[in-house]
Amino acid sequence: MKPTFHHRLVNGPFEDPCLFIRIIREKRAFLFDMGSIDRLKPRDLQKITDVFVTHTHIDHFIGFDTLLRALLKRGLPLRVYGPSNIADCIEGKLKGYTWNLIREYPLKIEVLCVKEDKIIASSFCAENCFKRIDNSISDFSGILLRDPLLKIKAIQLDHQIPCLAFSLEEEFHINIDKVILKKRGLPVGPWLSELKKAIRENISEDTEFTVSGRVYKLEDLRKIAKITKGQKVSYVTDVSINDENIRKIVDLVHDSDKFYCEAYFMEEDRERALERFHLTAKMAGLIAREARVKNLIVMHFSPKYREYPDAPIKEAMVEFGRDDGRGDIKEEA
Ligand SMILES: [Zn+2]
Ligand SMILES: [Zn+2]
Repeated sequence: MKPTFHHRLVNGPFEDPCLFIRIIREKRAFLFDMGSIDRLKPRDLQKITDVFVTHTHIDHFIGFDTLLRALLKRGLPLRVYGPSNIADCIEGKLKGYTWNLIREYPLKIEVLCVKEDKIIASSFCAENCFKRIDNSISDFSGILLRDPLLKIKAIQLDHQIPCLAFSLEEEFHINIDKVILKKRGLPVGPWLSELKKAIRENISEDTEFTVSGRVYKLEDLRKIAKITKGQKVSYVTDVSINDENIRKIVDLVHDSDKFYCEAYFMEEDRERALERFHLTAKMAGLIAREARVKNLIVMHFSPKYREYPDAPIKEAMVEFGRDDGRGDIKEEA
């Protein structure tokens, strides 16, 4: 199965957490958190349309300036989702510079603050010297973004301050059956992307496709496309150890193909984890096991473990039940 999303951590486990997700065959990408993003190439930065910020501690938000600078001349807007103070934090950052020479720049930043059961929208336009405009307030049902291809869910957790966690789910996956394609003498080509799009958008079965000069109806071409479960990637970091948080996380990340989770402290430092409102590596493993995720990647380690960087991974994987320390899927015996 060819994946629809390519995802990777931008930095190492002792550096700022930040997940870059590229949507294959589309010119768009997402960021989960925005710590230092200096390692992303300019062409990667240009693709970023939506950024999902868990909270605005500096290690999760310092990359905003890098992204802003890269996108100043981009016509496509940038959307930033975050907890209730995200618009204030972005406004504060924008107020830190002088903007008298950018009125002809097209960039628009749309900010969506999640506050309990509401989403509060604000915007900042370069043509207006990034003056804040507060727009609508809408209901928040747990989904931040939804289109025919995917949805992004968010939950609100406690890190002494509100902190969001995210999951990205492909609605369903479409595989083209090459055997049937060949049997029917149909060529591989861009029309297959059109077919996939038509299926995702659930358009009329009478819709016609012209392939190699012949006309086919969608209804007739459906057998080429096999529908399977879509990809799911989830991201959780900077979370206090408490029953409510754990219950909400297990629910969000359930059945993920890949679960990125903080392992800031190890279980031997649980007291410190409680004081600093972080999870331990063992808790990351426990959540992954309870949520039946397929693959766990631990990240965001305290610098105190620099001397033995494999230890948090090992602790998480033993609890998860995958004690090879790599987080790979092992077949059940
Ligand atoms: Zn952090
Ligand atoms: Zn934090």
